[in-house]
Amino acid sequence: MTILEFQDKFSTEQSIINYYIQIKYNGNLCCDHCGSDKVYHRKDKLKMYQCETCNNNFSIFKGTIFEKSSTSLRKWFYAIHLFLNSKKGISGCQLQREVGVTYKTAWRMLKQIRTAMASKGMKDVFSSTVEIDETYIGGKPRKKNKGMQTDEFKNKRGRGSFKTPVIGIIDRTSKQVYAKVALPNENNQKLTGKQLLSILSEVTKTGTTVISDEFRSYNILSKSGFIHLKVDHSKEFAKDEIHTNNIESFWGILKRGIYGIYHSVSVKYMQNYINEFSFRYNNRFNENIFDTLIKNTHQ
Ligand SMILES: [Zn+2]
Repeated sequence: MTILEFQDKFSTEQSIINYYIQIKYNGNLCCDHCGSDKVYHRKDKLKMYQCETCNNNFSIFKGTIFEKSSTSLRKWFYAIHLFLNSKKGISGCQLQREVGVTYKTAWRMLKQIRTAMASKGMKDVFSSTVEIDETYIGGKPRKKNKGMQTDEFKNKRGRGSFKTPVIGIIDRTSKQVYAKVALPNENNQKLTGKQLLSILSEVTKTGTTVISDEFRSYNILSKSGFIHLKVDHSKEFAKDEIHTNNIESFWGILKRGIYGIYHSVSVKYMQNYINEFSFRYNNRFNENIFDTLIKNTHQ
């Protein structure tokens, strides 16, 4: 959607209400209490409808990021449009300027848009051959932790470092990715077999073929109902199909995005950013990505 198309399509608040009823309710808005289709738009409250049958008042945006927001729908939609059109993401400062909101509001909007990008309903969707891999994201320890920057820690990379572990799974057939921050467990152990298995099982059917590297925590997979194949890096040429190149290339996109656009991301918001890049990746060929995101705005 170009900016002109966007402006034509969403020229008023009412046009957004109409669009939303079309894509979210297939044009048939019904009372969320009694199911009656005799509902009318309240003149005094833009987002509210009233049921003629049972008198129920309801917001058509119930449970979405728009429901309680005092920011206009046009600003929201414009922000989403900008966010999706900038292939690499957008900063709070840029959104503040372009949409005309305060920095605080811009920051909150971005956070909520990323929340809408979270994978929903992906249970058992992966069932062909999947690749699983882990990566580490994060910067150097903060200044106050400088004492920890001894030689022992300074050069540590990957497993055993201070960075945040992230697990990623890619389905080779659907080419969809699922990635999740995997914080250390209560005993401060990182990436235990149990943890890997639990994240894999969120989206992958038992019995699926899973390819990983030789990290020992993956050994649990073959005992847990998956067909587990390991990449053998000691061989000069890997067997044709036994590789994790797809998930590794996603890590490249994710890291370039996070380090390049956002510079650094705290552990607290890491999953939010991973959601953004996973959504962009999973919808890279989706021409209706805007509609997809709007339908996904339930929190
Ligand atoms: Zn009703």
